[in-house]
Amino acid sequence: MGMMDKTQLYPLRFEPIYQYRLWGGRRLASLLSAPLPGDGPIGEAWVLSDRTDYQSLVANGPLKGQTLGEVMAQLPEQLMGKLSSRFRRFPLLLKFLDAHEMLSVQVHPSDDPSELIPAGDTAKTEAWVVIEAEKGSQIYAGLRSGTTAGILRESLDDGTIADHLVGITPKPGDAVFIPGGTVHTLGDDVVVFEVQQNSDTTFRLYDWGHIDPVTEEPRPLQTDQAFACIEFGASDSGLVAPLVETTTPVKRERLFDCHAFLLWRVLGQEPFTVGAKAEPRVLVGIEGSGQIMHDGIPYALGKGDVWLLPAEAGECTFQPRGEITLLEIAIP
Ligand SMILES: [Zn+2]
Repeated sequence: MGMMDKTQLYPLRFEPIYQYRLWGGRRLASLLSAPLPGDGPIGEAWVLSDRTDYQSLVANGPLKGQTLGEVMAQLPEQLMGKLSSRFRRFPLLLKFLDAHEMLSVQVHPSDDPSELIPAGDTAKTEAWVVIEAEKGSQIYAGLRSGTTAGILRESLDDGTIADHLVGITPKPGDAVFIPGGTVHTLGDDVVVFEVQQNSDTTFRLYDWGHIDPVTEEPRPLQTDQAFACIEFGASDSGLVAPLVETTTPVKRERLFDCHAFLLWRVLGQEPFTVGAKAEPRVLVGIEGSGQIMHDGIPYALGKGDVWLLPAEAGECTFQPRGEITLLEIAIP
């Protein structure tokens, strides 16, 4: 038995894992407290990841330096509560994206057809909350009605694919839902928070003629797999209207409610409850600051901060310092 056995779990903060992407920028420097590496384009900060290749490291308290995977394996009940028998890996992957240029037009698999999902991976439904956007920023989510496989294939050859995608002009606070099987992309200076199933399967359909300056080559496309994944016809992808659940002591809006995650946005300045009995929750600071109170100890949350509240912590009080906006994420 390791030393972790007697450990009381507490709110966990993790080191962000920065990822080079040719379409990225340097804007995450103002969002996250950990300094950006080098001076090249950083497209993604993985802020909560239980992937074999990229493991989040605990940044605070007695478990500092442990990976999320190790905490999952050694303290499953304390961390996951009633969900502990269902998940060996933490089922969500959380990121901030800084899309300075357009990402490739891409699609992730849904659960069906499952042969497109690599062994050990899952389908990937994802969703974005827009943090920053510029005048020319763009999000594309889903196909315009009437777009057939034939039309889409032709548009790849003549470079007109954008004409067949549902375009959104993003503004801060927008919530966009991308179920598996949805053709999507974003870019031209938009920063989003992303919640997704713990999967790294992406099929690129089109890459706008981008050349990767590191390899001096275009990035590979996976057109056939992408076509096999795309859900043609009706879809619930796109801009989501927030559903107001409560208005006191703070405003609580539900943005996403799907088979893989629930996400609320909480706005206000009065103390309120975060966390839940016997299940883990994740908090993400969007605007303003405050503190999570657990066992009489304050855990500071500001813009860009991400905290994992273990199941064992249960309900905690959040004390805003002035007006705060945060996201709370649950696993259904
Ligand atoms: Zn995606």
